[in-house]
Amino acid sequence: MTETPSTAGSGGDVRLTGISKTYGSFTAVHPLDLSVPAGSFFALLGASGCGKTTTLRMIAGLEDPTSGSVLLDGTDVTGLPPYKRPVNTVFQNYALFPHLDIYENVAFGLRRRGIKSVKKQVGEMLDLVQLGDFARRKPQQLSGGQQQRVAVARALINHPQVLLLDEPLGALDLKLRRQMQLELKRIQTEVGITFVHVTHDQEEAMTMADTVAVMNGGRVEQLGAPADLYENPSTTFVANFLGTSNLIEAEIAESSGDDLLLKAADSKLRLPAARCSAPTGTGGKLLAGVRPEKVSLVHADEAGSIDDGRNRLTGRIVDASFIGVSTQYLIDSPAGGRLSVYEQNIERDSRLVPGAEVVLHWNPAHTFGLDASQSVLDGTVGGTDEEAA
Ligand code: ATP
Repeated sequence: MTETPSTAGSGGDVRLTGISKTYGSFTAVHPLDLSVPAGSFFALLGASGCGKTTTLRMIAGLEDPTSGSVLLDGTDVTGLPPYKRPVNTVFQNYALFPHLDIYENVAFGLRRRGIKSVKKQVGEMLDLVQLGDFARRKPQQLSGGQQQRVAVARALINHPQVLLLDEPLGALDLKLRRQMQLELKRIQTEVGITFVHVTHDQEEAMTMADTVAVMNGGRVEQLGAPADLYENPSTTFVANFLGTSNLIEAEIAESSGDDLLLKAADSKLRLPAARCSAPTGTGGKLLAGVRPEKVSLVHADEAGSIDDGRNRLTGRIVDASFIGVSTQYLIDSPAGGRLSVYEQNIERDSRLVPGAEVVLHWNPAHTFGLDASQSVLDGTVGGTDEEAA
């Protein structure tokens, strides 16, 4: 059993008030208020160029904000240089010293502060990142994932209140990245300090973070717990950037009661009023959203087997991709353009092939409503300027 390192429980909260960054006439980060509770794992998620790294660098003190302030554990650190802030940053490229072994890389921060007896702390840190047996190796004798763990140990040994991670897993291949996500989460839970993590990978953010802030065009578009963001996106950008969403243009036919009754082409759909972030007046337009895995598919001949009360749309399969655990269908529907359905491969109907007429159906409770004035393509690959760049 690893002894809990002495950083445990010393996390600090991060508060950004009206912080912004402009370069000439370009605004990389619009005035932003953000509060990260002490001891939490917080992710800034967004496509390339959305301003997440700039935000992180302003917390680290590596970038001067154009306006606003940074408070760490209640203290205003806006005017302090990076080395005077109780934070450390782990970068994608590890930045280990190649000529020093792992032990000395981890000991570096202590030695620089003139601390002579480093053995206990270095030992604790190497145990924390499970590299105790690698102490005398040089960085180039370790895998990418192991090197990144050294970088984390080297940062944590300085007892930061906040650890900033800038795409720390970006250089690793997919499988190793998944492993390291769990590893980083374990380390964060064990040491209990605040982690602020920047990533463009939505799965990475959702796996590790308690709270995710989705950034778009220099603004936080939505912030919340991963499951909450996924189930209740409030914009088309978030609906598309976190996973995939079907967004169906609809008109409100009836708006009394707990459910809104919608008309989409010649179909009627129900939407819980509480899950609608658009105006709910009768006659108004909105986008009815539903996640592909929430939708079931039957051949049109079986339409009679669908329970009453389910939302249903007709369509024709245009593509079916078998990916092992599920089959992903693309369906053209008069109501919603091209829709996606993910069906688990339990009992497959061999008639569900391209060209087949089908009925899509789902529990109305799984429908969410978004403002129709947004583009349905926001947040899709190539659907925004940020991603196209
Ligand atoms: P990535 O994942 O690609 O690093 P990001 O979301 O972290 O993207 P930032 O690095 O924060 O984005 O950059 C935000 C915007 O600010 C980008 O459009 C970038 O080109 C711009 N920017 C960043 N640094 C500077 C600079 N020194 N001068 C001018 N523009 C800059």
